[in-house]
Amino acid sequence: MKRPSPVLSALVAGGLLLASLLAGCDGRASATPTPTGGAPAFTVVASFYPVYIAALQLTKDVPGVDVVLLAPPSTGCLHDYSLTSGDMVKLSGADVLFVNGDGMENFLTGVATDFPKLRVIEASRGIATVTGPDGAPDPHVWATPKGAAAQLANLAAGLALADPAHATLYASNESRYGALLAALDRKAEALLAPFRGAKMLAGHSSFLYFARDYGIGVLGIFGLDDGQAVGTGTLARMIDDAKAQKASLIVTDPQFPAIAGETVARETGLPLCIFDSVAGGTLTGPAARDEYLTRMDANLERLAQALEAT
Ligand SMILES: [Zn+2]
Repeated sequence: MKRPSPVLSALVAGGLLLASLLAGCDGRASATPTPTGGAPAFTVVASFYPVYIAALQLTKDVPGVDVVLLAPPSTGCLHDYSLTSGDMVKLSGADVLFVNGDGMENFLTGVATDFPKLRVIEASRGIATVTGPDGAPDPHVWATPKGAAAQLANLAAGLALADPAHATLYASNESRYGALLAALDRKAEALLAPFRGAKMLAGHSSFLYFARDYGIGVLGIFGLDDGQAVGTGTLARMIDDAKAQKASLIVTDPQFPAIAGETVARETGLPLCIFDSVAGGTLTGPAARDEYLTRMDANLERLAQALEAT
């Protein structure tokens, strides 16, 4: 038996019986269903919700393909996520792993060590990034229809290489879902065109890609990835700047506590508007497939209405 990796060792040290959980590591996890007819299923594991939705769309009506969500749907962004023993079981049964990339999945180094043969498909590969508030490339590429479409193309290409027998079906799903994302993008352009140049404060950097795509200025970001607000000095400067530059709105991501946004709203007198980055959710399986479309569409309606009222 090969020497356990740091990730496995840490889990075993935690008293978890991984040896039995991972028995048959080169084959499939016993929990992985096989379709009737005896053909082994092809299993796509998705690290978190946005790439899970893309996986559900790309594999729609493709026979013999299972899609498994790694982190629980309520997790949202994976900035500080640590793998569990259950995750290791899921990964042991995976043929491919869909990830966002750009530093979202910090646990990936351990995965590469533990599952050297697992094919990892990175949604953000080659996509131009914006700089986040910490000066690093911001990982929230999917949170704008153009970004979601670019990620879809990367994932579809990787999937076709990993499972060439179904390449035609994946390509037709990519065209179908890609057209829906393109329609969402056109709707965003049309609804937000009258408000180009509007300035906002954002509760999280997940708004940066959307803002870039539709001509919205972000004067400051007051929430960090761990849900905490920036320091009081920085926040005070941001609030002064928002008043001086006549900002029109505050946007907040519902995956983080609302309190920081409410404080900034009180201090500035600006209205609050929710921008849901669709980083997590409550639905799984086929019911989750259209979550990005419906929730991003609701973002467009909310933003246009809020801007109309300013
Ligand atoms: Zn995030």
